[in-house]
Amino acid sequence: MLQGLGLFLIPYDTIIPHFEALFTKTSFYFDIINGMLEKNKIIVCPLCMSRNSEIYKRSKEFGVPFYKCSRCDLLSIRDLNHGIEIAANPSNKGRCKEYKRRLISVFGDEKKETILEVGPGDYILCAYMEEYCGEYTTIDVGTNFLQNASTSSINYSVPSPSTPEEIFNCSQLIYEKISKEKKKDKFSWGLSLHSLEHSPDPMVLLKLFDDFCENWVIEVPDGERTKEGATVNNKFKGDFPVWSNQNQKHLKKVGGHYQLFHINTLEWIARNLLRKDKVYYIGKSVFQLNSLAISTHRELCVPVITIGSSAANMTWALSKEPMNVLDLFWRRSL
Ligand SMILES: [Zn+2]
Repeated sequence: MLQGLGLFLIPYDTIIPHFEALFTKTSFYFDIINGMLEKNKIIVCPLCMSRNSEIYKRSKEFGVPFYKCSRCDLLSIRDLNHGIEIAANPSNKGRCKEYKRRLISVFGDEKKETILEVGPGDYILCAYMEEYCGEYTTIDVGTNFLQNASTSSINYSVPSPSTPEEIFNCSQLIYEKISKEKKKDKFSWGLSLHSLEHSPDPMVLLKLFDDFCENWVIEVPDGERTKEGATVNNKFKGDFPVWSNQNQKHLKKVGGHYQLFHINTLEWIARNLLRKDKVYYIGKSVFQLNSLAISTHRELCVPVITIGSSAANMTWALSKEPMNVLDLFWRRSL
């Protein structure tokens, strides 16, 4: 009753807050974070904050469940009680080559562009791009990645986490570091190739790109394609956790997949979180079919959906997935 009434009375922009509204006060963000964690577990969808979700499958990496959000279709790991151990995630030369080719095709080789890469892997892409861009900045968690870092790139790191709360806060630290170090102009390009799914708090990394990059591309595994694969155990039955000691030896501690995105999830992000003065291309990765991409440029994506800035596009969330006004009240009253 209240929800129906709310949808009638409250204008669209009030119901679905843009990042600007959410993050006007930093302390408000921290209030949200504090409200999102209970006993080292995230109690809402970390992307849309909906409380409507159900246990989906078990993560093979962490041995804890993925929850499926009924509003944005994100599959997320909510239980952060899985220990700490930073492992290097290998880069993919083929992917880096393809992105180099595409990026150069978009901005030429005048060495003007400034690039921010979040989650730089082993610096293959950075090495490929150095001679084509003006400045290359990278940031990641821990210092392992610095061993292979280029001397000509600007390399930032945030401390490795040692508690569940710190696991959750890594992305916030990345945001704050870039916010502090960024002196004047925005980065002309932001790159996140298979790093967003490793963040327990993907909203704040999206906010990083929205705030500090004129153009960007984010590639993630396709949750639809990977859900039957190695990341998720389909045979799960019963309550969590159900791991034997022997199985636990093979679990990743941190750095695995905290999120699995569907194309609907990327669409939800574009319509509800990102700034409305840009066009977003959403579809398959330019490199491999089992990955998804969202970008401000058509050339960095094989688009199946294009989200423009027209009012007609922006009403989608209201008509198809109305945000629960009570949820919003909860979010704002923390
Ligand atoms: Zn959600």
